[in-house]
Parts: sequence; structure tokens; C-alpha cells
Amino acid sequence: MGEFELIAQYFSKCGTARSDTAVGVGDDGAVLQVRDNYDLVVTTDTMVVGTHFFPDDDPRALGHKLVAVNVSDLAAMGAEPTWLSLALTLPVVDEAWVSAFAAGLHETAEYYNCQLIGGDTTRGPMSLTMIAKGIVPRGKALTRSGAKVGDYIYVTGTLGDAALGLQLCQGRHDVSKKHQTHILQRFHYPSARVALGQALRNIASSAMDLSDGLYSDIQHILARSGVGASVDVARIPLSQAIKDSCDTATAMQLALSGGEDYELLFTVPEAKRGSLDVLLSPYGVAVSCIGRITGVAGKLELKYGEQAFPYQHTGFTHFG
Ligand SMILES: [Mg+2]
Repeated sequence: MGEFELIAQYFSKCGTARSDTAVGVGDDGAVLQVRDNYDLVVTTDTMVVGTHFFPDDDPRALGHKLVAVNVSDLAAMGAEPTWLSLALTLPVVDEAWVSAFAAGLHETAEYYNCQLIGGDTTRGPMSLTMIAKGIVPRGKALTRSGAKVGDYIYVTGTLGDAALGLQLCQGRHDVSKKHQTHILQRFHYPSARVALGQALRNIASSAMDLSDGLYSDIQHILARSGVGASVDVARIPLSQAIKDSCDTATAMQLALSGGEDYELLFTVPEAKRGSLDVLLSPYGVAVSCIGRITGVAGKLELKYGEQAFPYQHTGFTHFG
């Protein structure tokens, strides 16, 4: 099967057929009708074999994850996902693999109401790159740079589950049978907090998604906003699965340094804090306050309750 048959068969009708897509897959470029008074948000994520996934990983889960991690960046900006482009590099065309991968892409793109509108396929070591586009009312995008001293720091959901899922897959950590499905789901099929991200547009002073782990990710907000943070690790939300599977030190390691949770990290000024619970209650995602923004630029202070919490970060950095 050649490149063009491959595209026609598996990628020409992928995701939601959006009415604001004037020209989609099949031309030299896509033509997109961006709404008046909206800003376009564009983000890219690459998944490389051996670094982000293994050759024998379930291709349907890879398709899901590629969309979800990209859409998660849009969620963190408060944007509504609209269009996706795919750059797919494969060593050989294994039709069963492509078919399952495309199914994962399609169902996840459709779930987030976005459409694949183009891309490129090449031969080489397996690499999956997606460019996601979203729209946000003009001037309303959430960024990493708006946190102010005194703001409260929040995270959605629970942290560390995906890292525990990776360790379970690698045989490095055991998880009791009743929690395995949840933990593996969190690792292979992450959710992007899209509706919640949009709900935060008028509440949060800064926001980002957690892809590399809280400890390293929060530093981006501190750097971009020119502030510090005090985080009470005892208030970091943990799933029952983590509590039942790990001692406290391990749970904290997973929650602080484990990546791929794709929860949102955001800050809220004191004046908007009161409306937070009411505004976010329809979304069915718990949010937890874990600390406050402080004035010492770049300084992250970790506490456990009132005690200092000494911590050795073990997170992963590319080129680190
Ligand atoms: Mg991100």
C-alpha cells in the first residue's frame, strides 16, 4: 500500500467533520475558517519510539494518546480544540498497525470534536508528530505568565497515576488487581481537561498541563511569571490506587516527578477563589488547592503540612 492509498483509506475521514473546515485532507494545504474575534492557538507534540513508547505498544492506545496529549496543551490554554495535523514516520507500512492507530486517532479526535485536516507520511524510524489547533475568544487564552504573589495553586484530578502505570507495565511496581485497570487506563488513555480549561478562562491567572511532573512543570509558571511557590505536598491529590499500592515516599515521588498525568495546574487570585467551586462543579473533575504563589522569583518551597519536605527530584528531561 502506497502513501496516497494509506492516507485515503485511513486518514481522510478522521475525527469530526467540522463545518468550519473549508478544505481538509487531500490538497496542498488545509483552509480553516477561524471565527471572528477568536485567537488561534497552535501546539505540537512528538512521540518517538524508544523514548515515549515501545514498538509493541497497542497502536490504538498510541493514536488516542497522541491526540490527547496535544489536546491537553490546548486545554491548558483555555482553547476549544478544532483541527489536527499529523506527521507520521513509519519504518514499514503494517496495515493492521496503521488501521488500529487510525481508529484510536479517529475516536479520540471525534470525542474532542476536532478534525484531522492534513499531514505528511514518510519512511524512517517510527515517530508520531501532531500539530493541534484550537480557538479561544480574543485575548482570553490562559498562559504560564500571569501568576501573582498570593494566588492559590490548584491541580485537577489526581497525580502520579500515569507514572505508576508505566512502572506497572515495566514490571517495576506491583499494583493490586482491583486497581490495575484504572492505573493502566490513566497511562495508556489519558484524558485532556478540555471543558475545565475553558471554564478557567475568566478565573485562572495562569495555567499549564502536567506532562513532565508537578515538580518540574510548576517551574515553568514560576519562570514565566517571575514568582515563587510554596506547595504543601500533603495536599497533593492521590488516587486510592496509589494510596493502596505505594508507601508515602513512593507516592510523593510519583506525584511530584512522574510525568504524563495531563492534569491541569493553575493559579487563582484570592478574589476569584470563592466562585471556583460553583463554576467548576458541573465538570465532574475534582480540583485541589496545593499551595500559594510567593514573592521569591524561581523558588519552589515544598512542605509536608507545617514541616519542610526535603526532596530529590528524579524527573526526566530531554537532553538533560
Ligand atoms: Mg503542555
